[in-house]
Amino acid sequence: MKKVLNLLTLCLVAFTSNTAYAQFNCSTHHSDQFMKRLDNNVKYLSEHPETKDPTKRYVPIKFHLVANTDGDGRMPEEFVYRQMCRINQDYDTLGLVFYIDGDFNYLDNTSIYEHTGTQFGPMVQNKKPATINVFLVNTVGDAGGYYSPAGDFVAIPKEYFLREDNVPFSHEIGHFLSLAHPHVGWEDEPYTPAQYGECVTIQTVGSSQTGGQIVVELQDGSNCTTAADRICDTPPDYGFMQSTNTCNNTWEGTVKDRNNDLIYTLPNSIMTYNGYACQTYTFTHGQANMMRADYDNRNNLEKDYVPNLVQISSTPVQNFPEAFSTVDTYNSVTFDWDPVDGATSYMLVIGGQSSQKIITTETEYFTNSLEANGSYSWKVYPISEIGSCFATNDILFFTGDNTSAVNELENVSSISVFPNPVSVSKDLHISMDLDQALEINISLVSNTGKVVKTEQYGLVSKGSFTTSLSTDDLSAGIYLVKIASDKGQIVKRVLLSK
Ligand SMILES: [Zn+2]
Repeated sequence: MKKVLNLLTLCLVAFTSNTAYAQFNCSTHHSDQFMKRLDNNVKYLSEHPETKDPTKRYVPIKFHLVANTDGDGRMPEEFVYRQMCRINQDYDTLGLVFYIDGDFNYLDNTSIYEHTGTQFGPMVQNKKPATINVFLVNTVGDAGGYYSPAGDFVAIPKEYFLREDNVPFSHEIGHFLSLAHPHVGWEDEPYTPAQYGECVTIQTVGSSQTGGQIVVELQDGSNCTTAADRICDTPPDYGFMQSTNTCNNTWEGTVKDRNNDLIYTLPNSIMTYNGYACQTYTFTHGQANMMRADYDNRNNLEKDYVPNLVQISSTPVQNFPEAFSTVDTYNSVTFDWDPVDGATSYMLVIGGQSSQKIITTETEYFTNSLEANGSYSWKVYPISEIGSCFATNDILFFTGDNTSAVNELENVSSISVFPNPVSVSKDLHISMDLDQALEINISLVSNTGKVVKTEQYGLVSKGSFTTSLSTDDLSAGIYLVKIASDKGQIVKRVLLSK
């Protein structure tokens, strides 16, 4: 029966609101061990009031990008960067900064990719030490994610992790840092007037997500450190928000606690379940204090590492290939973009008739693997370990059928093109060392692939060679300098400035 009700709720949410998501409910088990940790953190907070100071604490997250055993269905990396940016926005004022802990862990394991919350062995076996282990999977039973207090890891299905509001990710990390549901104990059977009447008189409540009975919280705050989530600025929630797809508690101003006080709940808490129709979701000060206390009490997290905190706030300019251009030589293409502040590396995604994903610390990438007469797209994600909400648009371009030698020039070393950038009308100098005599040609190619200048030097003797190219008749922009011999060619990018 419960399943049918859930389905009905899903349908209502899907058809009655454009902004609401399918209801998110997680399967975090608020075990006795978990609630005991919460009580310890309450005690710690009262003894260490300095915990309330939101001095920055740095929190590593190891992402396990899980595919099925055939390697299919894995979460694309770009979404991890985006959701990391979002979680740092959610926790921005709380003194908790999350960063991506090292490389992604790629797991091909169907028993993790599709599992229920009760089979946590495979995740525990793959955990890394001193970090928050987050497994991005396909399904975890029919829940939207969970934190395992016994295994001390988080698992989130891709569908929920990808959500624009990022609530499931921020919610599960909240659980990792010991937050309970404000409605703990009411997960299975939330308040209804038919069952409880206007005045809720029960003293304790339990659900399949609790180890035992949970004390029912009162509106006046008199039992707030021992009832429900143990947090005093999250008002009582008898599961009110579980059956609504608006940002309002349907029963607000009508339901009373056992003291006969009217209950006012907090609809837009990240730790609440609701139809996810609120504009913003938030943590309270009490929740922030609790998470900092849990962090300070943990001895199983790396705490000394400070990530690069410069936030990425712009999108790279894409220089080459240009939109709708046809590149000169299909088997020798150098993608080129400008650097942006805060980016420690870039992810280049080449799409079209074949796709490639490259992570590089450079701002250019040479490939010889495109096909002739092809249609391609490319975009760049600036990357930082604290995440990035920025990405360029896709640029479409075409390849012609001209071939070129690979980007390698044998018997030539110490190639230098300077100054770079060079002002228009100043000479561009090129120098190199030759191990043997070679026929050398140098050409300048515009960013639309047009050859604008060619110089043939004939047979150049062994030793150092220096020459200059005039830029008098050229307009400002990105150019490629191609240095070629019968032993191959090498391409250097140069910027002509006004
Ligand atoms: Zn939860």
